[in-house]
Amino acid sequence: MTTLFKNIKELIQVRDKQIDFVSGAAMKILPTIKNAFLVVENGLISDYGKMYECPNSEFDMIVDATGKMILPSWCDSHTHIVYAGNREGEFVDRINGLSYEDIANNGGGILNSAKKLQETSEDDLYNQSKTRLEEVMQLGTGAVEIKSGYGLTADAELKMLRVIKRLKENYPIEIKATFLGAHAVPLNYKNNKRGYLQMLIDDVMPIIASENLAEYVDIFCETGYFSVEDTALILEAGKKLGLIPKIHVNQFTAIGGVQVGVKYKALSVDHLEEMRDEDIEALKNTKTMPVALPSCSYFLSIPYTPARKMIDAGLPLALATDYNPGSTPSGNMNFVISTACIKMKMTPEEALNAATVNGAYAMGLGKQVGSITKGKLANIILTKPINSYGFIPYSFGNHQIEKVYLKGLEIK
Ligand SMILES: [Zn+2]
Repeated sequence: MTTLFKNIKELIQVRDKQIDFVSGAAMKILPTIKNAFLVVENGLISDYGKMYECPNSEFDMIVDATGKMILPSWCDSHTHIVYAGNREGEFVDRINGLSYEDIANNGGGILNSAKKLQETSEDDLYNQSKTRLEEVMQLGTGAVEIKSGYGLTADAELKMLRVIKRLKENYPIEIKATFLGAHAVPLNYKNNKRGYLQMLIDDVMPIIASENLAEYVDIFCETGYFSVEDTALILEAGKKLGLIPKIHVNQFTAIGGVQVGVKYKALSVDHLEEMRDEDIEALKNTKTMPVALPSCSYFLSIPYTPARKMIDAGLPLALATDYNPGSTPSGNMNFVISTACIKMKMTPEEALNAATVNGAYAMGLGKQVGSITKGKLANIILTKPINSYGFIPYSFGNHQIEKVYLKGLEIK
């Protein structure tokens, strides 16, 4: 199967050579080809260039992209889209003045989601989750990381991971799975947090490794949740099983989570709404990708990750949704990109780099997706007719996607 996209107004994020990620000043550079063609062969990008170099051969399908742009599909490296039920009741509670912490103390929050999930069958959980996955694919996401963490029992955590595995098998979108058993302390371990972590290490993690249910291990390193010592314990256990860390740190307080992430060679450290100078220093010249989740800041009215300060200090940055029922009930990467430009003062070039090439790196998919590079998957967005790519973040609350192609096939 061969497809030619011709007369592309601008082909965006073209990288002739595979790169890991872009950081600092390089994030302001978004390589493009104006008036371009793109050839897809058996689901992979096989050729591209200026229209005057367009090959004259036979194609199974030809798409005329006059006036439209093509860019790599979004790479959303941080989500929790496998969950049961929603929490709009707590949303109303927050409007009426309760804090995220008040709600958690009243048995709401993550524990509320865990209770619902434990009572939900694996099939029902799969069906609820696939609806969300299909929705984000329509919104241009072509690679996604999904976490467990709403189970909080051995059985329910494994149920979540098996649902992620089924989604992986049944959908063309690239999916990576992360074990986040240490998302909150369940009520039956209320006064025995160490006991809960030990249960995860002894009873759950070996099964994850033997059934190949996750690539990454995560923990909510935060005041009132899990300490830096707890984080080290879980990451050490993960390391023995080959699980690479991707961790929640510095959302409400900075307690040294970034440093422990770097020490354990975390692929990414995510949230970072509270960044001290020493946290920025700790990330310099490492392979750990900082990930910002602006939709979460928007929904909870908490500070945004200081992107400007971090990028100006030479760091890379990725953008992701954090799609989850409590703090970010949205998987819309288009909104994330707009919010990054509007609230975090990232330029469109920086935001597009953060949502594609850097996002791909942050979930270990840099060789498969994230740029227009020969040999990568043809996971691409065809825009509506637009004047410039700056219109993508500018038109916030909307999106400029006409069609999404995953492995070269249009998503209906
Ligand atoms: Zn999260």
